[in-house]
Amino acid sequence: MSEPLTEPDEPVRDGVRPREVSGTPGHPVVGALSPSRAGDFLSCGLLYRFRTIDRLPERPGLAAFRGTLVHEVLDRLYDLPAPERTVDEAGRILALALSDLLEDEPEAAFALVEDADWPADEPPTVPEAATDQLLADATVLLDRYFVLEDPRGIEPTHREQLVEVALDPDLLLRGYVDRMDETDGRLRVVDYKTGRAPGQQWEQQAMFQLRFYALVVHRATGRIPGRLQLLYLGNGEVLTYQPDEDDLDRFERKLHAIWKAITRAADTGDWRPNRSARCKWCSFQQMCPEFGGTPPPLPAMPVSESSTTLVG
Ligand code: SF4
Repeated sequence: MSEPLTEPDEPVRDGVRPREVSGTPGHPVVGALSPSRAGDFLSCGLLYRFRTIDRLPERPGLAAFRGTLVHEVLDRLYDLPAPERTVDEAGRILALALSDLLEDEPEAAFALVEDADWPADEPPTVPEAATDQLLADATVLLDRYFVLEDPRGIEPTHREQLVEVALDPDLLLRGYVDRMDETDGRLRVVDYKTGRAPGQQWEQQAMFQLRFYALVVHRATGRIPGRLQLLYLGNGEVLTYQPDEDDLDRFERKLHAIWKAITRAADTGDWRPNRSARCKWCSFQQMCPEFGGTPPPLPAMPVSESSTTLVG
């Protein structure tokens, strides 16, 4: 089991605190920003609104489910004593993890049966051929993981760790870090990606995530990670970032600016669509004005005297 970044009874340090959300007048109002939600807003304000304000459901996707499965296997692999973390063990864990995930998250069946109607009262029956294909694809990704790292030589200090820190009284940064470990006395943060490394067009987005984690870990622990890495299991590439304090300060200012823009959009209700290459993967085209749709009315949101509760 990973240790928490702060002891449960330890006094709150540098503003680290549990997530707090309330729209009750007179109560602190907190918005939480994660790398994904910040990324949503930067690419399209309306996408952010649909996901974060309307909280519209999205059909489970195959790539996302495959990613969840591979993450689960790698996490369980590190439960084993170091010498047992082998490719064969990963294969053994894979089948178990799949059956556990399908049992725990029956909705995931929609990801595996792409022609099933969604939403539906009951998840579809998953044909054996679909699970076989998923297992085969996940095996390729796991094999590639073992080319990038030898888990027998790594002792994580944290795994699947929620990291969060309040930048100021109304903005909480939060995210899950796949793994942290110490190499040569320096903190290393590792995140697994089951897709391919991004081309130049998307690389800044990946760097945004690394800077986000570096900032949160620094503000939460007082330590600047020595290195942050995204391991792309889709093609075996690694993206590395070595932060310094100046860069993190600049990034913090950027996050404040993003948050200001989000609260402005919330205050005015002006969540603009921004048509881009990303629309291809957007679940909400049918209700997007860029594609001839009409967004649903904005839900009533709890409002404090001064601002709006936004949870990302
Ligand atoms: S389809 Fe494109 S423009 Fe419309 S909400 Fe989705 S990402 Fe934004």
